[in-house]
Amino acid sequence: MKLKKKVIIIYGPPGAGKGTQALKLESVLNFYHFDTGREVEKIVHNPKNQKDPKIKEQRKLFDSGKLCDPKWVADLVKKIIRKLAKKNKGIIFSGSPRTLFEAEELIPLLIKLYGKRNIYVVKLNIAKETSIFRNTHRKLCSKCGYPVIYSQETKNWKFCPLCGAKLFVRVLDNPETIKIRIKEYQKRTTPVLDYLKRQKIKIYEINGEPLPSLVTKEILEKINLKKL
Ligand SMILES: [Zn+2]
Repeated sequence: MKLKKKVIIIYGPPGAGKGTQALKLESVLNFYHFDTGREVEKIVHNPKNQKDPKIKEQRKLFDSGKLCDPKWVADLVKKIIRKLAKKNKGIIFSGSPRTLFEAEELIPLLIKLYGKRNIYVVKLNIAKETSIFRNTHRKLCSKCGYPVIYSQETKNWKFCPLCGAKLFVRVLDNPETIKIRIKEYQKRTTPVLDYLKRQKIKIYEINGEPLPSLVTKEILEKINLKKL
């Protein structure tokens, strides 16, 4: 039997473990882990693209840490999604579509290519205190910047799970900054979740407090993908 391709979209406040869960699910399910920032970087830093004025313009924005043109990013993401769907590949998104604009651009395409019933939205819930604790106790990759959230599983990690480079402890995050980031997350994500509900896409509420491996187990049980 040919398996139906599926899409998993993971949301959660800072420190909920979106990236960690995406990595775990990626290896369990053999889906493509879609990280918009990484995809944009691949395009703007590709030497072959340096003659394209539009890409050059986006590269300047990207390299200075500013937001790239949302329409340009959405078009790029849609192009990649079409390619993945053609290959019958499942996709995991962590934290995106981030805004209502992105959701309105991408969700109709995902529905068209994958079908409403094959889109699973997972919302990782953690207490505000947990978010603050985890974000003030995290390590970052010295090479790719990947954040490793503190947990019993990750506290002794010394190397990046993505690229193998050394991790360092970041001391810049302070509780007030994190509170602001939590508020921004809620403000930005609520309209996206409302939009998904209007599209009749089911949202699975998952407790993000336990150990990462237990959270993964709970996600797989809830969305019933164990049979894959
Ligand atoms: Zn890394």
